[in-house]
Amino acid sequence: MEHESVSYILHHMGEDDLPGNAVSPPIFQTSIFCFPDFASFNEAIVDEVHHSLYTRGQNPTVSLVEEKLAALEHGGRAKLVGAGVAAISHAVMAFVESGDHVVCVEDCYSWTRTLLTDYLGRFGVSVTFVEGRDPAGIEAACRPETRLIYLESPTTFTFKLQDLGAVAAIARRRGLKTVIDNTWATPIFCNPIDFGIDLVVHSASKYLGGHSDLVAGVIVGSKADIDRIQKREFLQLGTVADPMMAWLLLRGMRSLQVRMPVHYANALAVAGALEVHPKVESVLYPMLDSYPDRELARRQMRGGSGLLSFRLKTRDKADVVRFTDALRLFKRAVSWGGYESLVFPDAVRYPGPVPEDRVNLVRIHVGLEEKDAILDDLERALARV
Ligand SMILES: *Cc1c(COP(=O)(O)O)cnc(C)c1O
Repeated sequence: MEHESVSYILHHMGEDDLPGNAVSPPIFQTSIFCFPDFASFNEAIVDEVHHSLYTRGQNPTVSLVEEKLAALEHGGRAKLVGAGVAAISHAVMAFVESGDHVVCVEDCYSWTRTLLTDYLGRFGVSVTFVEGRDPAGIEAACRPETRLIYLESPTTFTFKLQDLGAVAAIARRRGLKTVIDNTWATPIFCNPIDFGIDLVVHSASKYLGGHSDLVAGVIVGSKADIDRIQKREFLQLGTVADPMMAWLLLRGMRSLQVRMPVHYANALAVAGALEVHPKVESVLYPMLDSYPDRELARRQMRGGSGLLSFRLKTRDKADVVRFTDALRLFKRAVSWGGYESLVFPDAVRYPGPVPEDRVNLVRIHVGLEEKDAILDDLERALARV
């Protein structure tokens, strides 16, 4: 299938006739929309999913961003929601009932795990977690009551990939829905729908926004699936994407295709430097030549983003603390996907003693700064280990 170019989508799509010849679209900061007559009011209210009637459901600023996100991910429709976790929750909840079972990758985003265990467990939905690298392992976990397979490729912190085409084929044969969290690769580097995955979710708070100034999520899929999610979940739960946030997201997305190759080049340089550094035990970055599933990574992703993990050559938390505190350019913070370099040592998550196998694990987000400045900062901090 022929797709529009990324720059056409990001800079032109849906923006031909803006009011007042404006180049930047207006923010429709309104809660309600009014209609000239009974007939048009009636048309909007009986098909709220496709009309701007009330901003809890639809708003033109939001719709414009959705149109672009659907095109970027090669989907039929997109729904913008208030956070990445809302996108994940809606995509799963729209397709499971009490008694159903989900197969999920074990190193998924932490709130995805609690959704499937604590939250949906309360409503009689069960889950089996699998490593995910082997499609046969995913299939083996499927039961007669399985309805959905949930993927995240690569996984949070551990960067394990799943073979999207192989898993989609298994799901199709068994009549299961597939959902993937594609936040890491972004639509610039991977389009899971092209491999047969049904629904793609993103935390737009990361690269899509790109400036660490908003929280948002998006679900992309077929028109029928997104309509179902909007009707069954979104309008009910009120996880609204407000017009101002949608406009900020649009503004951030204007430069997405320029930012991502810079994150990729910087991350590749950092991963390469860390890999040969005497204070580093190992590096987890799917686009490295030494990465175990390198061939799969290249087959389903056109590049890599700026998030990677590595292990320091130590088991002493004090080393990790010294390394973290010595960084100047890297800021100490959660999240990632903005313009800036960030560090998140796994040890920071524990109130007390850190498990032996996690203490030296450090996640970094490689930002858009000059490559040499990033490498110098890491080098100086590694000297403290
Ligand atoms: C941050 C993140 C989320 C959650 O997104 P929010 O916008 O913070 O709700 C989901 N998946 C991944 C992989 C993330 O990194």
